[in-house]
Amino acid sequence: MNEEMLLVVRAAEFAARVHARHRRKDVDETPYVNHLAHVARLLAEAGCDANVVAAGFLHDTIEDVRVSYETLVAEFGEDIADLVRAVTDDKSQRWQKRKQAQIDHAPEATPRVAALKLADKISNLYSLRDTPPHGWDKAEIAKYIDWAHRVVSKLPAPNAVLFADYEAIRAKLLGRIGGSQWESNPP
Ligand code: ZN
Repeated sequence: MNEEMLLVVRAAEFAARVHARHRRKDVDETPYVNHLAHVARLLAEAGCDANVVAAGFLHDTIEDVRVSYETLVAEFGEDIADLVRAVTDDKSQRWQKRKQAQIDHAPEATPRVAALKLADKISNLYSLRDTPPHGWDKAEIAKYIDWAHRVVSKLPAPNAVLFADYEAIRAKLLGRIGGSQWESNPP
């Protein structure tokens, strides 16, 4: 079998297994793996290499389901483990600090890390439109869009396909919640 295909399939299987009981925050409690598969698909469609696509499946394993960096190295090699680590928030920090850190570190992202970050934000924006977290009002959605934009606008030379995708879903979502992202949460 084609090595790259095998790698991506192994990453998908690993992600499905370790995220088996993990759900999104919407009313239907969508399986978390749907988000991971969406991120991987966006990366593949944008022409990213197989390691980045595999990292798309694995990007939340350290942050959300306590897979160690060492386990990822053993299973998938250092390059993929490094990609995942680069998009992992430091959970020892409070929420506000973690979110600010993403903005602060965005300019340092390599093109592959930037693609991962961007695909993650795109998928989250689609989720906000189609399956929003239970109990989120417009103000909360506007706040996420604003924060995501602060991160994305600092990413160096983002992948053109992904950036176009991002702009499209961002515009649709802003239209849906009624105009400017500033209306409920001025900076
Ligand atoms: Zn994610």
